[in-house]
Amino acid sequence: MPPQKAAKSSPKPQPRKSTGDLAPGRVAAILKALDEAYPEAVCALHHSSPWELLVATILSAQCTDVRVNMVTPELFRRFPTPAAMAKATLPQLEDLIRTTGFFRNKAKSIQGAAKKITTAFGGKVPQTLAELITVPGAARKTANVVLGVSFGKAEGIVVDTHVFRIARRLSLARSDTAPKVEQELMRVIPQDRWIAFSHQLIHHGRQVCIARKPKCDRCNLEQLCHSKDKTWHS
Ligand code: SF4
Repeated sequence: MPPQKAAKSSPKPQPRKSTGDLAPGRVAAILKALDEAYPEAVCALHHSSPWELLVATILSAQCTDVRVNMVTPELFRRFPTPAAMAKATLPQLEDLIRTTGFFRNKAKSIQGAAKKITTAFGGKVPQTLAELITVPGAARKTANVVLGVSFGKAEGIVVDTHVFRIARRLSLARSDTAPKVEQELMRVIPQDRWIAFSHQLIHHGRQVCIARKPKCDRCNLEQLCHSKDKTWHS
C-alpha cells in the first residue's frame, strides 16, 4: 500500500478583485466560448494507465505529443510496468526515447519514477499532488496532468506553454512564471472547470492562438481578447 500521508494542500487561492478583465461575466463568457470551440478536448498523449500517462507526460517536455506517441508503444511493450522499467538500464531507455530530445535526462527521470513508484507506492501511481511531486521527473505540471486525466482530480491547473501564453493574452493572468500563473488562474476559474479549461487552452494554442501570428480572424474569443499580439480586430 502506498503511504497514506496527508496531502499537502496547495495554498488556498485568495479571490482576486472581480472587476474588468476578471469580472465573473467575462470569465464565464470565455469559458462558454472555449466549450463551444472545443467541447471534446482531451489529452493527446496515448496511454492505457496512469503509469503510462505519467511516463508520456515526462517525455513530452520540449517535445510534441505526436513524437511521444511514436515512441511510447515500443517503450511500454518492452517495459510494461513500473517494476519492469525500474530494472531497465539507462542505455536501454535512452535508445527507446532518443527522438524525444533531452533523452539522457528523461531516461533518468522515467527510471527514477519507476523505482520510486515501485518502492514507495506499491507499484501504483499515487493520487495526490503532494505524493506525485515526490516522483522523479514529475513536477507540478506533470502531476496535475496525471491527477486530472487519470483520476479526474483537480488539485491544480496544468500550465504548459500554451496555457501560460493564452491566459496572459486573455488577461486572466499577468505573472511571468508558470507557478504564479497557475495560482492566478486558480483564483478566477471555477474548480470544476480546471481540468477541461487546460485541455481547451492547449487545443486553442495548437490550432488558433499559436505563439507567433495567432489566427485571431478565426478565434471565437476575439471580442473578449485585448492582447497586444492580436493580428486582427473585429
Ligand atoms: S484573439 Fe488572437 S490573441 Fe486573442 S485569444 Fe484569440 S487567437 Fe489568441
